[in-house]
Amino acid sequence: MKDIEIAQQSKMAKITDIAAKIGLNADEIEQYGTYKAKIKLPVVPKVKTKGKLILVTATNPTPAGEGKSTVTVGLGDAFSLLKKRVMIALREPSLGPVMGMKGGATGGGYSQVVPMEDINLHFTGDMHALTTANNTLAALVDNHIYQGNKLHIDQRRVIWKRVLDINDRALRHVVIGLGGAMQGIPREDGFDITVASELMAILCLAVDIADLKKRIGQIVVGYTSTKVPVTVDQLGVTGAIALLLKDAIKPNLVQTLAHTPAIIHGGPFANIAHGCNSVLATQTALKLADYTLTEAGFGADLGAEKFMDIKAPVLGKTPDTVVIVATVRALKMHGGVAKKDLAEENIPALQQGYINLQKHIANMKRYNVPVVVAINQFTSDTLAELTTLQELCANDNTPAIVADVWGKGGNGAVALAEKVLASCEQKTDFKPLYVADDALETKINKIVTEIYGGAKVEYGMKAKRQLRRFKELGWDQLPVCMAKTQYSLSDNPKLLGAPADFTIHVREFVPKLGAQFIVALTGNVLTMPGLPKQPAANGMELSDDGTISGLY
Ligand code: ADP
Repeated sequence: MKDIEIAQQSKMAKITDIAAKIGLNADEIEQYGTYKAKIKLPVVPKVKTKGKLILVTATNPTPAGEGKSTVTVGLGDAFSLLKKRVMIALREPSLGPVMGMKGGATGGGYSQVVPMEDINLHFTGDMHALTTANNTLAALVDNHIYQGNKLHIDQRRVIWKRVLDINDRALRHVVIGLGGAMQGIPREDGFDITVASELMAILCLAVDIADLKKRIGQIVVGYTSTKVPVTVDQLGVTGAIALLLKDAIKPNLVQTLAHTPAIIHGGPFANIAHGCNSVLATQTALKLADYTLTEAGFGADLGAEKFMDIKAPVLGKTPDTVVIVATVRALKMHGGVAKKDLAEENIPALQQGYINLQKHIANMKRYNVPVVVAINQFTSDTLAELTTLQELCANDNTPAIVADVWGKGGNGAVALAEKVLASCEQKTDFKPLYVADDALETKINKIVTEIYGGAKVEYGMKAKRQLRRFKELGWDQLPVCMAKTQYSLSDNPKLLGAPADFTIHVREFVPKLGAQFIVALTGNVLTMPGLPKQPAANGMELSDDGTISGLY
């Protein structure tokens, strides 16, 4: 059965009943229909954070699929089966991948969050609010320039781009203000996808409304002709941008197929943004539940690194256990097998491709947190392959448990849940990768050599110039958000497995003073994706009775 059919056949509990499970009464939520709600702010202010935090991450993705969200949901349901007070905290899907290649982000099979159609489409409107807030600011910047430009913004140095939550390569580079004197000041501009925007990062890192406003006010929209940064506070529109996000900042409450409470809030991509759901959502779950399962995007080199180095310091909590999702299929691809041959047993390729998982295990252990590998079972996996993978992990002193969450939901992950529960009892002594005082180059060097396994970093002309300027401005105290391909540990998507001796090429930086990090653009990574030859959109349908098909 297709994911959407399983979801459509499920009987959801009323969202008030889900809220009651975690001790929230009807006054503490705002209902969006029967099955969705936002949790009011301030979020359960009096309760101290007490829960255990489990971070779910994965190997480098391949077209064979890994299933992080699916495992997160199934594992959450297994915790529920074990009568644990658990919450899941995931990211909101972007319409870019939903209509493009990857599909939705609500899990799969019998491990899904519902209502899946709503969550994958417009949900509670957060993406639209972010898009509107972002583009309102863009309009206000251009209007400021048009109406006399008191702040002397150099129109060639505006860095605030417009956004859209759709993959639209035709909008990557545009010229605006054409058509004559009344149509604004012509300048080159461009669109990013909403989930790469600074406002998305801000929404995900703000701890309350005051922090949201502070961060918005600090956004640098561009520079004067003498290269002095101009901020949103200087434009005097911080309040307007913040109020457009007044509802979007509240965490969204939904449920799994098995009625485990799930918060789905904030959705930055992990390759071009910081890849973690909102701090408010994770904090809420940590206060309301004894166990919080959260996910960071793409492989552990991107999402998990950013969780540890960007999100955890703001959250004030590091993971009690990291679960690395791996599949036999993906590791065989890392070992050189073509997608069409994945159904055949291939132990040597699995053994060879294991180096990708091995590197991620070592990377997570480097932070001094306990690691459990979740082997997400596919129907094509053979017993010999599953056993081999468990043995390979055992040789690296890492427990690896097979979970059939896709086929059996929580029932397929009870053994995994028991292992994770035990793992969470270990004492952790978190060891960060870098400290704020490290220079930007030092931070990047540590990420590249210690996490990616690369040899060195090369900076393009523009990046070198920016490094000098950022130092003068005091911005090199900020964390780094690497924008890198998700497919490889290197910046070359074709280098699978665990490449060594490679160079990472940083071509440009994008300062995000509101988000409080500096984005480093590496390789050819793009902040506005394109649609593939066969977009997922081509298989979608809305029947006359309103039933949706083709979402996955
Ligand atoms: P990720 O979070 O790593 O991007 P998802 O959990 O969203 O991956 O899963 C991607 C797709 O793979 C979904 O359509 C899901 O149904 C499918 N999938 C995940 N795990 C399995 C599995 N064990 N067997 C078959 N399909 C799976």
